[in-house]
Amino acid sequence: MQQIDRIHFDEFHTPNYFPQNKVIISGIGSYVTDQDGKEYVDFAAGIAVNCLGHCHPELIKTLKRQSEKLWHTSNIFINEPVLELARKLTESTFADKVFFANSGAEANEAALKLARRYAFNRDSQKNEIIAFHKGFHGRTFFTVSVGGKPEYSDGFGPKPSGIKHLPFNDISAFEQTINDQTCAVILEPIQGEGGVIPATSEFLATIRSLCNKHNALLIFDEVQTGIGRTGTLYAYMLSGVVPDILTTAKGLGGGFPIGAMLTTNAIASTLTIGTHASTFGGNPLAASVANTVLSIVNNTTFLNSVREQSNKFFSGLHQINKRLNIFNDIRGLGLLIGAELSDDISETAQDLISHCFANQLLITAAGPRTLRFCPPLNIDDKAMEQGFERLEHTLSNIKNIRSL
Ligand code: PLP
Repeated sequence: MQQIDRIHFDEFHTPNYFPQNKVIISGIGSYVTDQDGKEYVDFAAGIAVNCLGHCHPELIKTLKRQSEKLWHTSNIFINEPVLELARKLTESTFADKVFFANSGAEANEAALKLARRYAFNRDSQKNEIIAFHKGFHGRTFFTVSVGGKPEYSDGFGPKPSGIKHLPFNDISAFEQTINDQTCAVILEPIQGEGGVIPATSEFLATIRSLCNKHNALLIFDEVQTGIGRTGTLYAYMLSGVVPDILTTAKGLGGGFPIGAMLTTNAIASTLTIGTHASTFGGNPLAASVANTVLSIVNNTTFLNSVREQSNKFFSGLHQINKRLNIFNDIRGLGLLIGAELSDDISETAQDLISHCFANQLLITAAGPRTLRFCPPLNIDDKAMEQGFERLEHTLSNIKNIRSL
């Protein structure tokens, strides 16, 4: 086989990524295998995407069946899988209508444009968006400008205006900022990239009630928290605070690219013909896979098992921490879990991704100091235990290096 590795990646790919120095060739369940035949436990699931693990037999069957039937129609014509998916998503949530896109960023781009246009149709001065420090909503220019990490949007200016960033979970900053010019508030119910930080229930309730008072739309970015990741189909279902617009992607396609924006009839009517579109949005291949993902995940037994595996995951991390005292905090919900490194650990979360990778474990990071664990939702006990052994081995080596 032709030699394939990081050197080849660097030769041909734009230099905006820094991947591990091995090529992943295949995957099955909660494991992947590299070009040398080495098997890794997957605690990353493609950053909360492969919710049913790798090569789930039902997803393969669906994709094969659809690939022999119809690949693409564009939005000029209707296809069957997208109708079924829109029905499933609206029947399972607060929403009446769905717009389909191909990624989380595109779903958020649609949500933000919709919120601006909805307000503009009533008052052309009502255009302010409130977002939060460390929030992450994607890498299109609008979404990255709304996101709360200026380092991701600096140097690409001029930036879109009318966006205010506030500290997350700071009720009084929010109360002092929202006003009648606010058209939308966007947040993740649990900040993912920002460090796995759950919104407090008081914060969510305050935002909901002040959005109502000032006629601002509440957008929940559930790109990462959705599709069972937190133990309910969407995180808002646990909080009891219902948004006006919800965005979903990542797990929705179980590894096949798809995104969607969900909203109510009254708000959706703003998107009149031609106001927004996507060539690939609602693609029959993606929609058929998402239909199968939803029928497996949106089921009480499955969601209960996510909560059970979550308890085991938290307990495994706490046990490791008891022995090694390496985390300041372990937080999150369901199988979206962050473990913040103690201050005396000099390695960054990025360093630990590499160390874990060398020990055949895939993990991801959420900011410079937090390890993020988002394994497949159907991870079994054996894979979890194997992953914990490798994690503990990696972390204890760090401790040993540190205490020399
Ligand atoms: N929103 C959230 C909360 C995310 O975590 C991400 C990706 O990590 C996005 C949006 C962007 O999604 P995508 O990379 O599919 O555009």
